Amino acid sequence: MVERHDPLRLAARCRYLQVTLAEPRAGQVHGLRNLCRHIVRDGSECVGPFLEDTETTCGLWEERPRSGTFGLRG
Ligand code: SF4
Repeated sequence: MVERHDPLRLAARCRYLQVTLAEPRAGQVHGLRNLCRHIVRDGSECVGPFLEDTETTCGLWEERPRSGTFGLRG
């Protein structure tokens, strides 16, 4: 029997997250933007957080399919 666990709801693993480049904002050394592509928040900054092992409280989060498993269940 295979035991399954719910995945950690990490913002970095959300299927709607798009990381893109833009002009750096004041005080930033890079222009990375974490944009949300969910239909409800499309174009807004992801609510994050982007901390290891800290789950997001975003109610729209869905796990991003792992590479090579798109379309598979189980
Ligand atoms: S705001 Fe929510 S749905 Fe959008 S990318 Fe971040 S965690 Fe995902």
